Amino acid sequence: MDTTNWKVTEAPTCPHCKQVMEQMDARHLDWDSPYLWVCYNDNCTLFKKGWDHMMQTVGQLVSYRFMIQPQNGETGVIPAFSHDYLQNNGKPANPNYSEE
Ligand SMILES: [Zn+2]
Repeated sequence: MDTTNWKVTEAPTCPHCKQVMEQMDARHLDWDSPYLWVCYNDNCTLFKKGWDHMMQTVGQLVSYRFMIQPQNGETGVIPAFSHDYLQNNGKPANPNYSEE
Protein backbone atom coordinates (compact mmCIF):
# COMPACT_ATOMS: atom_id res chain seq x y z
CA MET A 1 0.00 0.00 0.00
CA ASP A 2 1.41 3.37 -0.99
CA THR A 3 1.09 5.74 1.92
CA THR A 4 3.45 8.40 0.58
CA ASN A 5 0.80 11.08 0.31
CA TRP A 6 -0.98 10.23 3.52
CA LYS A 7 -1.14 13.04 6.03
CA VAL A 8 -1.02 11.00 9.23
CA THR A 9 0.91 7.74 9.12
CA GLU A 10 2.43 7.86 12.58
CA ALA A 11 0.28 7.47 15.69
CA PRO A 12 -1.04 10.93 16.56
CA THR A 13 -1.88 12.18 20.03
CA CYS A 14 -5.50 12.78 20.96
CA PRO A 15 -6.04 16.55 21.46
CA HIS A 16 -8.66 15.84 24.14
CA CYS A 17 -6.67 13.60 26.47
CA LYS A 18 -3.10 13.55 25.09
CA GLN A 19 -3.10 9.78 24.79
CA VAL A 20 -1.46 8.17 21.77
CA MET A 21 -4.13 7.02 19.35
CA GLU A 22 -4.40 3.51 17.94
CA GLN A 23 -5.28 2.06 14.56
CA MET A 24 -8.76 0.72 14.10
CA ASP A 25 -9.49 -1.67 11.27
CA ALA A 26 -11.76 0.23 8.86
CA ARG A 27 -11.72 -2.07 5.84
CA HIS A 28 -15.34 -3.05 6.34
CA LEU A 29 -16.44 0.52 6.98
CA ASP A 30 -17.43 3.19 4.55
CA TRP A 31 -14.12 5.05 4.58
CA ASP A 32 -11.58 5.11 1.78
CA SER A 33 -8.97 4.00 4.22
CA PRO A 34 -7.97 0.57 5.57
CA TYR A 35 -7.75 1.99 9.07
CA LEU A 36 -8.55 5.02 11.18
CA TRP A 37 -6.68 6.52 14.10
CA VAL A 38 -8.92 6.24 17.13
CA CYS A 39 -8.54 7.37 20.74
CA TYR A 40 -9.36 4.33 22.86
CA ASN A 41 -8.89 6.07 26.19
CA ASP A 42 -12.00 5.49 28.32
CA ASN A 43 -11.10 8.57 30.33
CA CYS A 44 -10.87 10.80 27.26
CA THR A 45 -12.82 14.01 27.93
CA LEU A 46 -14.60 13.78 24.57
CA PHE A 47 -15.59 10.18 25.22
CA LYS A 48 -16.81 10.92 28.75
CA LYS A 49 -18.76 14.00 27.70
CA GLY A 50 -20.31 11.93 24.94
CA TRP A 51 -22.03 9.61 27.39
CA ASP A 52 -23.95 12.45 29.04
CA HIS A 53 -24.74 14.15 25.76
CA MET A 54 -26.01 11.04 24.03
CA MET A 55 -27.95 9.90 27.07
CA GLN A 56 -29.81 13.22 27.11
CA THR A 57 -30.40 13.44 23.37
CA VAL A 58 -31.12 9.85 22.36
CA GLY A 59 -31.42 8.15 25.75
CA GLN A 60 -29.06 5.37 24.84
CA LEU A 61 -25.77 4.19 26.19
CA VAL A 62 -23.67 5.29 23.30
CA SER A 63 -20.85 7.76 23.04
CA TYR A 64 -18.18 8.60 20.53
CA ARG A 65 -14.46 8.48 20.27
CA PHE A 66 -12.16 10.96 18.62
CA MET A 67 -10.71 9.79 15.31
CA ILE A 68 -8.42 10.93 12.53
CA GLN A 69 -8.53 9.79 8.93
CA PRO A 70 -4.91 8.94 8.03
CA GLN A 71 -5.05 9.88 4.35
CA ASN A 72 -6.36 13.45 4.52
CA GLY A 73 -5.84 14.18 8.21
CA GLU A 74 -9.52 14.91 8.66
CA THR A 75 -10.75 14.68 12.23
CA GLY A 76 -14.10 13.42 13.41
CA VAL A 77 -15.81 11.04 15.78
CA ILE A 78 -16.97 7.45 15.51
CA PRO A 79 -19.78 5.97 17.59
CA ALA A 80 -18.76 3.89 20.57
CA PHE A 81 -21.15 1.55 22.28
CA SER A 82 -21.14 0.58 25.89
CA HIS A 83 -20.65 -3.01 26.91
CA ASP A 84 -24.23 -3.10 28.19
CA TYR A 85 -25.56 -1.69 24.96
CA LEU A 86 -23.81 -4.36 22.90
CA GLN A 87 -25.05 -7.07 25.21
CA ASN A 88 -28.65 -5.97 24.72
CA ASN A 89 -28.62 -4.76 21.15
CA GLY A 90 -27.47 -6.66 18.17
CA LYS A 91 -24.33 -8.28 19.38
CA PRO A 92 -24.46 -11.70 17.77
CA ALA A 93 -25.01 -14.34 20.36
CA ASN A 94 -22.54 -17.14 20.61
CA PRO A 95 -24.43 -20.23 19.37
CA ASN A 96 -22.18 -22.48 21.41
CA TYR A 97 -22.96 -20.79 24.65
CA SER A 98 -26.07 -21.37 26.71
CA GLU A 99 -26.93 -19.77 30.02
CA GLU A 100 -28.94 -22.78 31.10
ZN1 LIG B 1 -8.79 11.08 23.69
